[in-house]
Amino acid sequence: MASMPALNNVYSGLGTTIFTVMSSLAVEHEAINLGQGFPDVDGPEEIRKLAAEKLISGPNQYPPMQGVPELRQAVARHNQRFYGLEYDWASEIIVTSGATEALSACIMALLNPEDEAIVIEPFYDCYLPQIEQTGARVRAVSVKPPNWSLPVDELRAAFNKNTKAVILNTPMNPASKVFTQEELQVLADLLEEFDAYAICDEVYEHLTFDGRRHTPLAALDGMKDRCLRIGSAGKTFSLTGWKVGYISGPAALTTVVAKAHQFLTFTTPPALQYAIAHGLNMDDEYFDGLASELQAKRDFLAATLEGIGLPILPCEGTYFMTADIARFGFNGSDYDFCRHITQNAKVAAVPISVFYHPDTKDVPSTLIRFCFCKRDDVMAEAAERLSAYFGT
Ligand code: PMP
Ligand code: GLN
Repeated sequence: MASMPALNNVYSGLGTTIFTVMSSLAVEHEAINLGQGFPDVDGPEEIRKLAAEKLISGPNQYPPMQGVPELRQAVARHNQRFYGLEYDWASEIIVTSGATEALSACIMALLNPEDEAIVIEPFYDCYLPQIEQTGARVRAVSVKPPNWSLPVDELRAAFNKNTKAVILNTPMNPASKVFTQEELQVLADLLEEFDAYAICDEVYEHLTFDGRRHTPLAALDGMKDRCLRIGSAGKTFSLTGWKVGYISGPAALTTVVAKAHQFLTFTTPPALQYAIAHGLNMDDEYFDGLASELQAKRDFLAATLEGIGLPILPCEGTYFMTADIARFGFNGSDYDFCRHITQNAKVAAVPISVFYHPDTKDVPSTLIRFCFCKRDDVMAEAAERLSAYFGT
């Protein structure tokens, strides 16, 4: 056969995401899947019921491109209620098909090929191809284990006159780090100094532990005009399959983000939007309950991992926990170890090294991530399997 023309440089070189790889392996080996992050209990019934009613009553036609007014108003109220942030619902909020689409739309709206974007690693895996596809250059700055501290000098050194944006993920997946006020201020000062924007991936905004509260970068002095803040109903309401996301930002930015969104998906299913509007208006009890239930699961997993002799890294937010497998002296990579325990201990995890830029030196090679947003009986069974396999 004659040779075929080359396909897109970014996507033809990519593998399948680690989440899909490990989830398939977990199914194949009947392992408990603590790899890919998703809850095994669906979010509030009142939200699901409302979506079902709306699906039947309709309308089921294209809703407004920026999202139904009820959801945009609810997102604006939620910003005010939790963070004191004021956005005009009509011009400064856009509903998207998940945070993934929101990230894509924001990246497309901000970046040109001559620009640079800074990402903080280990980073969520869609950032890199989304940025590279615009032709912009990625500069990665690593937070350092075991405490995932932010190297301020390295961060400063990554900025230059071509820096257009930073992608900030707090609470951070997979590091489970919640950026402190001081760290956010360092970033804010650099954004001012280099006149750059921030795309703030805040999908885990309500999943913080030990009394910590999430602070959006946009809430710091002078930052609101530079930030596009992204939330996800998937995480906030344990409905990951719905793929409903929302962006809040100044009109000067959201106007262009909307142009990208109109040709990515244009809209998101209206029934789901109405239901999530209801969810965002639910009282504090729901949001506090979500965090405290997850904190108990986190503590259970911490005790399990420590019980089998695995040191764990701090877990301040998200529904992930990182463990260090160095002391097992396993002969292979973190990826091999995750495959090994999926096949043999019948519990799946994901390797942390896949969340680094290919050019990064000193990538941690002994860290693996477990997801703990699972039913208590499932977590207990995972604990039994790990303890049995590792002989405790
Ligand atoms: N950002 C981060 C950090 C995530 O962990 C996820 C979760 N999957 C996403 C974005 C994407 O969210 P969504 O499922 O709403 O597209
Ligand atoms: N965000 C989830 C995780 O980090 C996975 C999302 C996905 O599979 N696309 O595990």
